[in-house]
This record gives sequence, C-alpha cells and structure tokens, in this order.
Amino acid sequence: MSLVVVGSVAYDGVQTPHGQRERMLGGACTYVALAASYFTRVGVVGVVGEDFDPADRRFLEERGIDLAGLEQKPGKTFYWSGVYSEDMNDRVTLRTELNVFGDFQPELPPGYRRQPYLFLGNIQPELQRRVREQMESPRLVGGDTMNYWIESRREALLETLAGWHVLLINDSEARLLSGERNLRRASERIRSLGPRILVIKRGEHGAVLFADEGPFLAPAYPLDTVADPTGAGDCFAGGFFGYLAEQGADLRDGIERRLLRRAVIYGSVMGSFCCERFGVERFRTLTRAEIDARFKEFKELTEF
Ligand code: AMP
Repeated sequence: MSLVVVGSVAYDGVQTPHGQRERMLGGACTYVALAASYFTRVGVVGVVGEDFDPADRRFLEERGIDLAGLEQKPGKTFYWSGVYSEDMNDRVTLRTELNVFGDFQPELPPGYRRQPYLFLGNIQPELQRRVREQMESPRLVGGDTMNYWIESRREALLETLAGWHVLLINDSEARLLSGERNLRRASERIRSLGPRILVIKRGEHGAVLFADEGPFLAPAYPLDTVADPTGAGDCFAGGFFGYLAEQGADLRDGIERRLLRRAVIYGSVMGSFCCERFGVERFRTLTRAEIDARFKEFKELTEF
C-alpha cells in the first residue's frame, strides 16, 4: 500500500435529469480510493454501519483497496441524498444522516502510519489534523474541505492547512477561504497558508493548478452525456494523488512541473469517467488502458 485515504463511506440517493438512484455506494473516501486504485495501492480509513453490503466491500477489495482501516460499527452507514438542477451545475442536498459517521474518530492501523502518501477527505479539520499527526513521515499530504468548515471552523482549518502540501478545492470554496474574488489573488493567499500546491476545481470548466512555477490550466473532458456528477471532484483528487503516488513524487525534493501537470490531467480524466454513469458504476468496468487513452486525447485537445 502507498496511499492512505480518509473520509466518508456512504450510501447516496441521487436524482439527475438522467435518472434516479435511491441508495448506491458513495462517499468521498470511496470515490477517491476507487479513482486512485488504478495507479497505486490504497488503504482507506472510514466507518460504516451494520447495513454495509458485503458486496460493496467485495467490490472495493477487488479493486485492490485495503479495508483494514474501514471500521464497522453498530448503527447505520452515513446517508446523503441530493437532487441536481437541469444543467447539473447546481445541486441541493435533501438529506444528510450522519449515523455512525457522526462520531467518526479516525484511527490509523499501525501499517498505515508509515505510508508515504496521505489524502484527507472532507471531514472536521480537527480530525484531519489528528490523522496527519498519526503518520510518521509522509512524503505528500493533501486533502480537501468544504464551505461548511471554512465558515464554522475557520481557525481550526487554518491550523490544519498549515501542515499540508496540497489542497484541492472548488472555486467558490477558494473565494470563501481567501476572501478574494480573483482566483489568482485567491491562490496567492491560500498558498501562503501552507499548501504550496493548490488545485482549484471548476466543474465543467476544468481545473487550475497553482504551484511555484505559476498556473497551469486544464480543461474538463467534453463528455457527450453526464449521467451523474456526484463524486467527480473526489475522483479528480484520486487521479491526481494516485498518479503522484505511482510516480513516487516527493515534495521534499521538489516535484517536477511536468509531473504535477500530468497529475492534473489524470485528475480530469478520472473526474470525467466518474460522470459517465451513476455513482461508482463506471469503476466496475473501467480499465487503465481506457484511462491512458483518454489522457492521450487530452493532449490532442489542448495542443496548438
Ligand atoms: P462530490 O460530488 O465530489 O461533492 O462528492 C459527493 C460525495 O460526498 C457523496 O458520495 C456523499 O456521500 C459525500 N458527502 C456528502 N456530504 C458529505 C459530508 N457532509 N461529509 C462527508 N461526505 C459527504
């Protein structure tokens, strides 16, 4: 194993203009781990309830994901549901039932503590910091957060971010965190808080990487049908981190500019595959060859 992923493992109910699912496997940790599993060995740290389907466990294991850190507790698995707007750029949350996730106290199994890569999914900033402290000497630490924590736990979040190398967030979160409307200025502010590598995700408009070498812009892959965008941002993070882990990236030696840019493209590739089907469905058939073919297509899309 090389990448440890922490966060929500959930059942989701989703409604988009292309259909509806009442209850399907989801959660940010699940999406990150699945996307990263095409590049590197992944171990997850999360919690599920007694209702967690053994078939879902098998599916993750078949992707080579280590579940030693996935605790099963009395009670129900975290449940989230949402409905998307006609153009799928907006989503309204209908239900958030934390269940066993409500008192999640992430504990890393001993074997996880020595791993080189750590991705902290969107959980309470204090918990993210505690997990970071359990790791011995990771080469690369990163994660994401959300509006809720930026607004309600700002001080704790700032303390947490100070220990990260990479932050992946969307544009509205970047503006909220920095207090700047202009993304370039927002990036400077955020990078001064700790994470020298910042990726701002802009949904169907792609992503922007800000690092010491200046910005890099990546488009989103032009899909003809987006079935369900749930988890696309998490899959971006999984592709980005998974690729860096596969390449042995080490921030302590300085990550090559080319490697970072390629990681952004692999992130975009994984986000795009995620949207093609509902939930995690696409990962039941997706192959590394398809991923690399789409990566090549990206080159052609942007070469001039
Ligand atoms: P994304 O579409 O990238 O924002 O990720 C969607 C996933 O995040 C879904 O699978 C949900 O189960 C999960 N999720 C929704 N709300 C929360 C929350 N408050 N904490 C952690 N995970 C959540």
